[in-house]
Amino acid sequence: MNYNKININTALPASPKAKVMIIYTGGTLGMTHNANGVLIPFDFNHILEHLPTLRNLLLDITVIAFEDPIDSSNIEPAHWQTLGKIIFENYEDQDGFVVLHGTDTMAYTSSALSFMCKGLAKPVIFTGAQLPISEPRSDARENLITALEIASAKINGKPIVPEVCIYFDYELIRGCRAKKVESMHFDAFQSENYPSLAKAGVKIDYATEAIRVPLDDKLSIQSQFDTNVALIKLFPGISAAAIKAVVTTPGLKALVMETFGSGNAPSASWFLDILKKAISDNVLILNISQCPGGMVTQGKYETSKALEEIGVISGADMTTESAVTKLMLLLGEGGIAYARKWIGRSLAGELTED
Ligand code: ASP
Repeated sequence: MNYNKININTALPASPKAKVMIIYTGGTLGMTHNANGVLIPFDFNHILEHLPTLRNLLLDITVIAFEDPIDSSNIEPAHWQTLGKIIFENYEDQDGFVVLHGTDTMAYTSSALSFMCKGLAKPVIFTGAQLPISEPRSDARENLITALEIASAKINGKPIVPEVCIYFDYELIRGCRAKKVESMHFDAFQSENYPSLAKAGVKIDYATEAIRVPLDDKLSIQSQFDTNVALIKLFPGISAAAIKAVVTTPGLKALVMETFGSGNAPSASWFLDILKKAISDNVLILNISQCPGGMVTQGKYETSKALEEIGVISGADMTTESAVTKLMLLLGEGGIAYARKWIGRSLAGELTED
């Protein structure tokens, strides 16, 4: 992935408050209408024309822009690897990072980065916009300016938010708890099963007790992805053929199964037999609830007890975005036995352990 470093020529004070790197990947925030009225990415060299206030911040800002900015529906693990590499290479030199990203898959990328950045002790704040920055009513300006403020915020010389997060519509959410829930209004993201880490009003109120304390570690980046993962969402009437087709995908190593309520699924023997066979063929099956709130509790109902008995693993209160990216990384790092060992443990605050 190619990218350029852009000097955005801020009116740098003698001693800036902090050094922040903006990484621009694409998305609506940086789009403009072409002659046919279709949204296409603009050249990020022109960001100051759209956001002149950037010049007035007491920050030393460096911008890295993807040479080919993308709509986030085209994001792939290779882009996540590039983001990890940029963060790693600039980590010592910067106080924090702001990643500009399309909203569609932002929660997948923020989840992936949460697991990739081991020993992270600085802010990595994702943001974007529902309306391009060139539009008068755009939400891009507030989102970007406040994300920069959060990425540079310190208390007693230490970053207030040493985590991968999403800042959007006045709310800061842990990156591996986030889900896109809205495509028209500005409140695009929701935090699942975890309080928000800050609310921005006249001042930014940080929920310090909810923010992770960083491990006393050096940053390392885990960037081996194994994409032999599949996702299936159950619904009443789902056919044996559909489930069989997914679990017998050649090379499949892990299946995220979105179940009902607290992790319940049909008790029909044809259904359980298909899953049992897949598990005996060494496919890891992870139970994630379709409910945005609450958690999988296998064994609470008869309709989930059988899943527990055949070896389906509970995903507790993880989001699907976290489950999929965590599995790809665990499989990439150590294979199926390793993934089985770690998938139910909290690695970045993505699930509530018993
Ligand atoms: N399709 C856009 C993207 O995800 C939507 C957005 O940026 O909000 O890149």
